[in-house]
Amino acid sequence: MRSISEVLAQAQSYLSIKDVDSPRLSAQLLLAHVLGCSRTDLYTRPDRLLTPDEYRLFFKLIDRRAQGEPVAYILGQKEFYSLNFKVNSHVLIPRPETETIIDLVCDFFPKEKKIIFADLGTGSGCLAVTIAYLYPLSFGLAIDISTQALKIAMLNASQHKVQNRLAFICADLGTTLKPCSLDLIVTNPPYISEQEFSNLSHEVAKFEPQQALLSGPAGVEFYADIERQSRECLKSTGFLIAEMGYRQSKEVRKIFSSWSDVRIVKDLAGHDRVLVARV
Ligand code: GLN
Repeated sequence: MRSISEVLAQAQSYLSIKDVDSPRLSAQLLLAHVLGCSRTDLYTRPDRLLTPDEYRLFFKLIDRRAQGEPVAYILGQKEFYSLNFKVNSHVLIPRPETETIIDLVCDFFPKEKKIIFADLGTGSGCLAVTIAYLYPLSFGLAIDISTQALKIAMLNASQHKVQNRLAFICADLGTTLKPCSLDLIVTNPPYISEQEFSNLSHEVAKFEPQQALLSGPAGVEFYADIERQSRECLKSTGFLIAEMGYRQSKEVRKIFSSWSDVRIVKDLAGHDRVLVARV
C-alpha cells in the first residue's frame, strides 16, 4: 500500500511526462476528490495509506487527466464566484475572467434591485445563476442553443435554489425577446476565430464544446447579433455587459459605435475583456 505523498509524487511525474497543464495541482485535486478531503488535508496527513480501491480509482482519474481531459470535467464541477457549478462536456468550464462580468453587475445594481435580465448563451448557467443568487428579487432568461447545456444550467439553478426566478429558453443569441423589457443583458458568447481555434491548447480544443468557443473566421461574428438584440430589448436605463477576446476591443467598439456609452473593462490579468455599453 502507498501513502498520500508517494502516490502524489508518482501521479505528478506521470502527468509531467504526458505534458498536461498543472500536473501537481491536477494530482492533488483528483486525490482530494477520491479521498473526500480537502487539498490541505493531503499536506497534513502525507503518511495516510490509500486502500487498494482508492489507489485504483485515483489512477483511473489520473489516466483521464493524462489524455488532457480538464480536471473540472473529471470532477464534474467548477467553482465560479465562490459558488459550485456542475459541468460536463456540453458546457464551457467557467473561467475566472468571466467573474469580471459579475463584479460589474454588482457595481451597477444595488442588491435589492429587481433586475430583469437575460444571459445570452448561458452554458453552465454560471452567469444567470450567480446573478439570480446575488439578487434575490431578480428574474432572468437563460438562453442557449444547446438543450444539453440547458439541462446543466437548470441543475445548477436548482442547486442554488434560483430555479423559480429563471426561465430557460432554447434559442440562438439573436432570438426575439420583448422590446425595451430588460435592465441587463450579460453574455459570454463564442469569440474565438478559426485561426485562434487551431492554436488553442489541446485540453480546450479537444474537450470543451466547439459551439461555445468558435465564432467564425473573424471571431467577432456574434457581437452584431448581440448589438441588435440588446438595442431592441434593453430599457433606456439598461446595461449590456459582454465578454470578448482581449484583442477584439477595436472591432467590438466599431460594432457598438452608435451606442451612447461604451467602455472596455480589463480582467484581473490586465487584458481588455469586457464590453459595458448603454443604448
Ligand atoms: N455563459 C457561460 C460562461 O460564461 C457559457 C459561455 C459560452 O458557452 N460561450 O461560461
